[in-house]
Amino acid sequence: MDLYSGHINKLIEELAALPGIGSKSAQRLAFHLINMPGDKVRRLTETITAAKENVRYCRECFTLTDQELCPVCASQKRNHRIIMVVENTRDLAAYEKTGKYEGVYHVLHGAISPMLGIGPGDIRLKELMGRLQGEVEEVIIATNSSLEGETTAMYIAKLIKPTGIKVTRIASGVPVGGDLEYIDEVTLLRALEGRVEL
Ligand code: ZN
Repeated sequence: MDLYSGHINKLIEELAALPGIGSKSAQRLAFHLINMPGDKVRRLTETITAAKENVRYCRECFTLTDQELCPVCASQKRNHRIIMVVENTRDLAAYEKTGKYEGVYHVLHGAISPMLGIGPGDIRLKELMGRLQGEVEEVIIATNSSLEGETTAMYIAKLIKPTGIKVTRIASGVPVGGDLEYIDEVTLLRALEGRVEL
C-alpha cells in the first residue's frame, strides 16, 4: 500500500539517493519542499539547474569553477611553479581558507583505490603530468592520510621522480583517514609547513 502519493514517493526516493541523506531525512526534506511556497521551490530548482549547466572544470587545475580558469589559476599573484595536489575541490577550499598558501593546485577528483577498482586512469593524473612540462619547481602532495590517499601519494611521487622536479608530502599529524576539509586551519598550515621531500 502506498502511504504517500506517487509524486512524494518519487521525491523521497531521489532525495534519499543523495550522499549523507538517509530515508528519514529524505522524508523530512520532501515534506518540507511540498510545504514551501511555489516561488521558493522554483528558485531552488533553477539554482540547481544553473549550477549544473554553468559549473565546469578549470582548464588548468580541474577544480570546479564558472570560468575557463579558476580565480587561483587566473591570478598573477600566485606562484605557478608550485603545484599542490589535492583529492577534491573541498580540500582545495580548505587550504584556500588558510589564506597562506601562495602556489596553485591540481585537483585529482579521487584517489587510487584498488579495493574500489579506482586506478590511476580514473583520476586526473595524466593532466597533472601534462602540467609538469612547464616551469614547475615543486609538487606538494596533499592527498588525505587514508590508505587511498597514501597509495596515491606514493604513486605520484614515483611518477614524478624521474623528471627531477621536487616532490614533497604534507606532514602527517593530519588524523588518519580524516577528510582534509574537517581539519582546522592551524593543523593544515602545520602539515604544509612540515612537508617532507619524497
Ligand atoms: Zn584552476
